[in-house]
Amino acid sequence: MKALITGGAGFIGSHLAEALLARGDDVTVVDNLSTGQFDNIRGLVGNPRFHFAIETITNETVMDRLVSECDIIYHLAAAVGVELIVTNPVHVIETNIKGSEAVLRIGARYRKKVVLASTSEIYGKSDRVPFREDADRLLGPTTRSRWSYACSKAMDEFLALAYAKQCDLPVVIVRLFNTVGPRQTGRYGMVVPRFVRQAVRNEPLTVYGDGQQTRCFCHVSDVVRAILALADEPAAEGDVFNVGSTEEVTIEALARRTIALAGSSSSIVRVPYEEAYEVGFEDMRRRVPDTTKIRRLVGWEPHIDLDGILASVIASVRDATSPAP
Ligand code: UDP
Repeated sequence: MKALITGGAGFIGSHLAEALLARGDDVTVVDNLSTGQFDNIRGLVGNPRFHFAIETITNETVMDRLVSECDIIYHLAAAVGVELIVTNPVHVIETNIKGSEAVLRIGARYRKKVVLASTSEIYGKSDRVPFREDADRLLGPTTRSRWSYACSKAMDEFLALAYAKQCDLPVVIVRLFNTVGPRQTGRYGMVVPRFVRQAVRNEPLTVYGDGQQTRCFCHVSDVVRAILALADEPAAEGDVFNVGSTEEVTIEALARRTIALAGSSSSIVRVPYEEAYEVGFEDMRRRVPDTTKIRRLVGWEPHIDLDGILASVIASVRDATSPAP
């Protein structure tokens, strides 16, 4: 198979590229390196089955050629990260909506299967956990920029499903819950890489709000396995799947576990949301996926638990920060 990965130099995209190459597929990455990093794919350069284009996915000419040459598109290019959403909402909305519109339109032109990465953010602040794929969503007002991300990705989902219905385009939507692992940057706000870096440097861990909000963290290798299983399963076409861990943890407990596992002398500091993000920032109290659907269809379950995840991120941060011999 010839795979095209949009956003393939990003955190999840680069792990997906590695997995596809490892099983013998050809991989082309298209990435404008806005949040992705060349370093993430540096190790793949030189593999004769790996190609990359540093290009934006709204470049019609380039995308037309790349899509025509591939068998399947993994559409991961998106502006993500709560901090980025709050500080640069125009970029986030335009990137997510225009990018997916281009990928789906060109994908439909050549009838190439599109696996679209969506997000658990689209459930918003609903408290009806665990979230099922067909659950109602609860979003805050348009004056709170955080919700623009959920809306932009929901539009991507609507558009993908519309192409499936109206143009018979094979699409699979994967709603990724908090995904973590080596190479994830804390630059756009993500909590695990931030906590691990802080712990490794023996700096205070910044817990936002009261720390009682919960999340479920899934290792990127498990997430990539889920994406591949769904992409390979014809019965997944035209449908939406949650992908995530169900091991729920408060952010406060996450901070404590990170400190313990890193053997760190860090303390924990509380940072009010309005200081961390903006005045009136709304967070979700709990976020837990219902993963019945993916389990039933392809038998997927995560293999790595939270301690395993933290150990792997701590090791990778230590590797990256230790001086070369
Ligand atoms: N968070 C935190 N300290 C940080 C970064 C994030 O306490 O330095 C909190 C954040 O407010 C949220 C949770 O950790 O409640 C997860 O944040 P992240 O940005 O990783 O993902 P989200 O689930 O919000 O998309």
